[in-house]
Amino acid sequence: MGEDGTVTGTTEGFDAVDIIAAKRDGLRLGSEQIDWVVDAYTRGVVAEEQMAALAMAIYLNGMTAEEIARWTDAMIRSGERLDFSGLSRPTSDKHSTGGVGDKITLPLAPLVAACGVAVPQLSGRGLGHTGGTLDKLESIPGWRASLTNEEMLRQLEDVGAVICAAGSGLAPADKKLYALRDVTATVSCIPLIASSIMSKKIAEGTGSLVLDVKVGSGAFMKELDDARELARTMVRLGTDAGVRTVALLTNMSTPLGLTAGNALEVRESVEVLEGGGPQDVVELTVALAREMVAAAGKDDIDPSDALADGRAMDVWRRMIRAQGGDPDAPLPTAKETHAVLAPADGVLVRLDALAVGVAAWRLGAGRGRKEDPVQAGAGVEIHYKPGAVVRGGEPLLTLHTDTPERFERAIEALEGAYLIAPEGSRPDLPPIVIDRIS
Ligand code: URA
Repeated sequence: MGEDGTVTGTTEGFDAVDIIAAKRDGLRLGSEQIDWVVDAYTRGVVAEEQMAALAMAIYLNGMTAEEIARWTDAMIRSGERLDFSGLSRPTSDKHSTGGVGDKITLPLAPLVAACGVAVPQLSGRGLGHTGGTLDKLESIPGWRASLTNEEMLRQLEDVGAVICAAGSGLAPADKKLYALRDVTATVSCIPLIASSIMSKKIAEGTGSLVLDVKVGSGAFMKELDDARELARTMVRLGTDAGVRTVALLTNMSTPLGLTAGNALEVRESVEVLEGGGPQDVVELTVALAREMVAAAGKDDIDPSDALADGRAMDVWRRMIRAQGGDPDAPLPTAKETHAVLAPADGVLVRLDALAVGVAAWRLGAGRGRKEDPVQAGAGVEIHYKPGAVVRGGEPLLTLHTDTPERFERAIEALEGAYLIAPEGSRPDLPPIVIDRIS
């Protein structure tokens, strides 16, 4: 029955308006109501505006743990489930809630594969200020993101790692709902984020999962308590679905590493695989690799050995080649650069992740709409991280783009993004890994 007394959706057994009204009034949704509304939305029976209203009611009134579990399950059942049980090695996957300069998947997947654990990494493209793993890899000449399920399985068996686009058959309810949330200000809601991420990861069929839940200005979760609640919710969903799941809460108040942008981040990832690279990227890559390898039951293996002796690099080269890429081809570079200079001598005490992410995005590394192209060479190169002593007039950042008219808006994004304190200052820098939740 609709609010005005009209009878709607009688052939369906449930009425979207009743379900929206129940959540609006702070009531718990029943399992059958959740199953129906997710399925009917996927089939186009529940209209976009009805799901928009329901998403906002969930955003405002939340969901219980039981409702979140049922919602996640309904989204999994909206599509296909992959099965990796026939592979000769255990599987482990990583999911990051997204950040600035977060290129960790690139060195991590081959590193974990080099330790004997298969890594099926279904990734996405960037939207807004956070970069997308597929956009980064697409800066490698020839590399292709789309694989069939058979190609993916074959690559997992032969190479041990695959990073590719999630097919349209996986959790189609989430695909529709995520696009709707993006335009209705309902993204940053713990029940909706947790069910969105975990429905895809559980449907993907990984045996174990390590979540990198980012906290800070460049992350969805700005506050530690919210990040902890999101991590706990996702760990519980994974564990209840039979996936061994662990979460690390990691710092995203400053960008990871020294680059934000597509080809720039690939270059930095290759440096890590060569045994170099920025210390924070190496530390987080190894910390996540240890968790993934242990979650897959191989706790006796130390991934840092496979990084040091070049085995991870060998897997990287095979992984890129298997998807048509040339690991030896020069990476694209931007046509124009602009240096942002340190205004004074002193100690850099802050470099804001969100501002650097927005600047990289405005330079052309990211997209405003799903269908926009990205510039492979665009982005921000970081010369100093918080804690470093800097001299006035030295470059702090170098901006890269093919379209120099973008510099002005990128520089605007960086206003107030960095702070230089008098020499001798000792900034309070949070660790990369803040907490672990299992
Ligand atoms: N990533 C997802 O896949 N879903 C969300 O809701 C947020 C981040």
